[in-house]
Amino acid sequence: MGTKAAAGSTGRIVIIGGVAAGMSAASRAKRFDPGAEVVVFERGEYISYGACGRPYVIGGKVEDFEDLIARTPERMRGQGISVRTGHEVTGVDAGAGTVTVLDRAAGRTSTEPFDRLLIATGVSAVRPDWAQADLSGVHVLRDIPDGQAIEASLQGAGGKPAKRACIVGGGYIGLEMAEALHARGLKVILLEKGPEVAGRMLDIPLQRRVRAELEAKGLVVCCGAPVEGLTGTGHVTGVQTSGGLVRADLVIVAVGVKPNTELARAAGARLGKTGAVAVNLRQETSAAGIYAAGDNTESLHRVTRRKVHIPLGLTANRMGRVAGVNMAGGDATFPGIVGTAIFKVFDLGVSRTGLTQAEAEGVGLKAVSVDVDSTDHAGYYNDSLPIHVRLTAEVGTGRLLGAQLVSPRHISVKRVDVVAALLHRRSTVQHLFDTDLAYAPPFSGVWDVLLVAADKLNRQIRD
Ligand SMILES: Cc1cc2nc3c(=O)[nH]c(=O)nc-3n(C[C@H](O)[C@H](O)[C@H](O)COP(=O)(O)OP(=O)(O)OC[C@H]3O[C@@H](n4cnc5c(N)ncnc54)[C@H](O)[C@@H]3O)c2cc1C
Repeated sequence: MGTKAAAGSTGRIVIIGGVAAGMSAASRAKRFDPGAEVVVFERGEYISYGACGRPYVIGGKVEDFEDLIARTPERMRGQGISVRTGHEVTGVDAGAGTVTVLDRAAGRTSTEPFDRLLIATGVSAVRPDWAQADLSGVHVLRDIPDGQAIEASLQGAGGKPAKRACIVGGGYIGLEMAEALHARGLKVILLEKGPEVAGRMLDIPLQRRVRAELEAKGLVVCCGAPVEGLTGTGHVTGVQTSGGLVRADLVIVAVGVKPNTELARAAGARLGKTGAVAVNLRQETSAAGIYAAGDNTESLHRVTRRKVHIPLGLTANRMGRVAGVNMAGGDATFPGIVGTAIFKVFDLGVSRTGLTQAEAEGVGLKAVSVDVDSTDHAGYYNDSLPIHVRLTAEVGTGRLLGAQLVSPRHISVKRVDVVAALLHRRSTVQHLFDTDLAYAPPFSGVWDVLLVAADKLNRQIRD
């Protein structure tokens, strides 16, 4: 056990959770104050891995789960950071400045002191009551062991290799898993209780394009049919929905996540309205000396100025960096997010930033959207492909609120980053229209599709 009066000026920094937020924080803290003692407790066996790559290992685009690992505990130790895997923090005593740690292999508990504590414990997959049945072949996908368990089901751990997969949930993880299992030769049925897939990310016209892509690739998509239970004895054989029984020997439950806040609550840190840990711009919780970062933490949405819980990889890394610098005695702030996300559904690239029309209305903004169908390259250039842009702005002020893009050329939807950058500056549609975007026929039309959409939206706002 280390002591509170460690060598460095900032003393002993303890970090709970060793993936994106936790390891970013550890590296930054050590770099900022090389004299600080930095200790990371991770309950799993892996640290610092490309969490977002898991569906691509299952789908065969990445060879092995081990390929996702960016840094090993040994490498971190080489940088002077102590990483203890298989160690679960089970309690926090903020007053005493200690955490209780269970060494899972040894079954031994110890008390560890801290001067600054970071809680970077991520989220857990939601498992509704119907998914609690003790049946093999039913999986969530949160960590590498979850991915390995899915792989085992595919290889025949349930008696014989899985042939029919049912994905419950049409969010981006469900969609990525649907594609991955289809690539492995399974018959895939996607169940979504809402009226369309990708419902929380896109407006209806774009949701329909995503669904059309799934159906064009031979997947069965059933929307508006909530799951009521699972069937099977020992191994899953089907999913009971309000509309009937769907046969399946592999079920992926991807119905959402909930922030892991138990330790933050134990430490006396306030939770926000989103249910995630509330922090200020320095990633400090309401408990002195205790920070939070990553998927378990809420952030400021720069378009709405409201606190949101949008758990994504770059956000977790950024929050971790900020927390690391501040825990080591520096002064860094995390300005917030604009809700930018991108994903692939078979031959479609899909991206979004800011607010959809529905989200804007949901927070009481008077918004207007335009849709533009164009080509991603100059129309005459031989390999130009279609691209659809939906651009949203506030009526009256012309403030840009968001964009959604869909194109069969995946990289073309990275244009969303232009709008994201402008949203951070609270720019108007006119600012977007005035932006000097790159042009040559193999990349875009002379008037890029974003500029065409901005022009159309400007006219709409004026009329
Ligand atoms: C299948 C999938 C695909 C994704 N794809 C994308 C994508 O394409 N783009 C994107 O931006 N984001 C994506 N994400 C989200 C991204 O992976 C997360 O935002 C990111 O991993 C969050 O990092 P984190 O450090 O906050 O939490 P996590 O990665 O969840 O790490 C938290 C760690 O804390 C540990 N822990 C928890 N409690 C304790 C405890 N009591 N004691 C010790 N250790 C503890 C956990 O074991 C875990 O390893 C994806 C997520 C999933 C599941």
